[in-house]
Amino acid sequence: MHGDVAVLVPAAGLGLRLGPGTPKALRQIAGASLLEHALSRVAASPSVGCIVVAAPVGHAREIDTDLPATPGVRLLVVEGGETRQASVAAALAAVPPGFAIILVHDAARAFAPPELVERVAAAVRAGHDAVIPVLPVVDTIKQVDEAGVVIGTVDRSVLRAVQTPQGFRRAVLEAAHRGAVDPLTDDAGLAEKLGVRVHCVPGDEAAMKITRPLDVALAEALLSVP
Ligand code: C5P
Repeated sequence: MHGDVAVLVPAAGLGLRLGPGTPKALRQIAGASLLEHALSRVAASPSVGCIVVAAPVGHAREIDTDLPATPGVRLLVVEGGETRQASVAAALAAVPPGFAIILVHDAARAFAPPELVERVAAAVRAGHDAVIPVLPVVDTIKQVDEAGVVIGTVDRSVLRAVQTPQGFRRAVLEAAHRGAVDPLTDDAGLAEKLGVRVHCVPGDEAAMKITRPLDVALAEALLSVP
């Protein structure tokens, strides 16, 4: 069924690795903020009926007023928290009844295409409790000690780089957040702690995380390709 998916968009990070300035989600790339880029792609996914943004502290009202509306998609804005996990929890608490599938999508992955949103939503709809988009790891990964000395080399064929949106049956995500103790960097990690089986679907290179200045240049190049 279309419109049965709510998407939580944690967007409250400061983005210090991008350099000082406005919170990352509000920085402009090619005439629109990262948040606007993220939301226009999420809203273009026919599964999505509701989006809840966790806004940077002090910016919720301005975001609520400024974001363009998409017919058929309910948009809510809440204030984010001190950690990503707290921001997701705040957004989750605001999801209206009636959405059985919830996706969590970082505003920082602003160029994730609607097809990726659909792929994740479809896998949850098909019966998976928790779904993550992944890509193979291209770098060789080493484990190091505190002194920076190599302890070992990890077999990269069994590793995957994890993106968002991550998708969940609503009850699973709610239970995962209720059971959360230490902040983790993704929501599937919380579900894993509950023993939930997490299913992988292919990710998309366009869903790269905008973290450092070079990522902004890459995003601009990506947008300039017709
Ligand atoms: O900090 P990190 O790069 O892991 O952030 C991933 C996503 O989580 C970003 O979209 C960021 O805006 C969001 N975030 C948040 N609240 C925080 C920290 C990060 O919503 N306190």
